[in-house]
Amino acid sequence: MTQQIPYKIYLNEEEMPKTWYNLRADMKNKPAPLLSPATHQPVTAEDLQPVFCDELVKQELDNDTRDFEIPQQIRDFYKMYRPSPLVRAYCLEEKLQTPAKIYYKFEGNNTSGSHKLNSAIAQAYYAKNQGLKGVTTETGAGQWGTALSMACGYLGLDCKVYMVKVSYEQKPFRREVMRTYGASVTPSPSDTTNVGRAILAAHPGTGGSLGCAISEAVEAAVSTPGYRYVLGSVLNQVLLHQSVIGLESKIAMDKYGIKPDMIIGCAGGGSNLGGLIAPFMGEKLRGEADYQIIAVEPASCPSLTRGKFAYDFCDTGMVCPLAKMYTLGSGFMPSPNHAGGLRYHGMSSILSQLYHDGYIEARSVEQTKVFEAAQLFARTEGILPAPESSHAIRAAIDEALKCKETGEEKTILFGLTGTGYFDLYAYANYNDGTMTDYIPTDADIEASLKNLPDID
Ligand SMILES: *Cc1c(COP(=O)(O)O)cnc(C)c1O
Repeated sequence: MTQQIPYKIYLNEEEMPKTWYNLRADMKNKPAPLLSPATHQPVTAEDLQPVFCDELVKQELDNDTRDFEIPQQIRDFYKMYRPSPLVRAYCLEEKLQTPAKIYYKFEGNNTSGSHKLNSAIAQAYYAKNQGLKGVTTETGAGQWGTALSMACGYLGLDCKVYMVKVSYEQKPFRREVMRTYGASVTPSPSDTTNVGRAILAAHPGTGGSLGCAISEAVEAAVSTPGYRYVLGSVLNQVLLHQSVIGLESKIAMDKYGIKPDMIIGCAGGGSNLGGLIAPFMGEKLRGEADYQIIAVEPASCPSLTRGKFAYDFCDTGMVCPLAKMYTLGSGFMPSPNHAGGLRYHGMSSILSQLYHDGYIEARSVEQTKVFEAAQLFARTEGILPAPESSHAIRAAIDEALKCKETGEEKTILFGLTGTGYFDLYAYANYNDGTMTDYIPTDADIEASLKNLPDID
């Protein structure tokens, strides 16, 4: 007898993961090491320690340890908003009249509104544990800054956020959430750092970029005693913390004997996708099971589908280590599309390597198609999705519609990374019919890739 699958599969506290899973341990081709921007040699722990706190440096450089214990205080914090629900999208399936079985893991169930809190609390915890005074970071659309300010507010750690100036101006409410949790928020580029002043001099009136805000936050961290820098995506450590998403999903699915055929996630810097797929990819790498894995990115910022696999700078100011990744070039300025969390020029080295080795597929989608999917999802499943998350919804709907044609009963799991309450200008644009799709030309991308550093 098959068990009826509930709308939401929860885990009780005892079932929640006690360790994070480090996907790198099972990768035959490890992600390429970070290189020092000065010497182009692989970075050492000593190189990274002025920037990141010690425990996170260890996690960043460790390609071998498979499981990392989640400290008790982080597990306790997780209990406030985790496990996140794994939802069977019965209503969406019904609406689409598809034989596919659709599940989504919903990470928007906390005040910051996204999965980013999973790593924010971990990074803040290790900084606090080291006796540091505070952390600095950048935020683009604002989700990461909000998550970090919540984590720092909880632990009593100072939090300085450099927020991309256009977002600072367009999303005053995000800013106020951060300030409520005790963070200080500075629009970037600012005149508080050397790199900010240089960028302002070169581009007066610029609205800023993520790469530029990163440079400012790093400078502020290394020049202020007792501070370190933290980053919300891209890094190996962030994918490690985000593995909690996939581990919970897998435990919940295993409880009911469900095996996804296909796992779909949006990809900005790669942290939610890397986390969602982690335990499944582990099985795939070890040859124990197979899954089709799809990364979905915006057509306006297509690092996997149109970028180059090469060493590049992670920031505009070129102060951070170099990472080997699929990149559009650190100077790439994506058009101001509405999925702010997906506008980064590069992609996590782990996902880049897996994509390069053929373990992951990638596709890009245009934003009007993304919002069409978002609207359908909101009307059927009730949740107002973040534009970023809606990239995954788009792909999941497209796959479910393919199943309708072929009659295949595939099981689809996708990551619903967050809610869209701070993205209502974007929804207004879509509802007014004024949203456009900007796709960079080959010439745009080539021009940006010309500035890649010369490293094999
Ligand atoms: C930041 C963000 C993303 C993209 O970041 P990844 O590191 O690629 O996961 C996706 N969805 C939401 C809601 C976000 O806030």
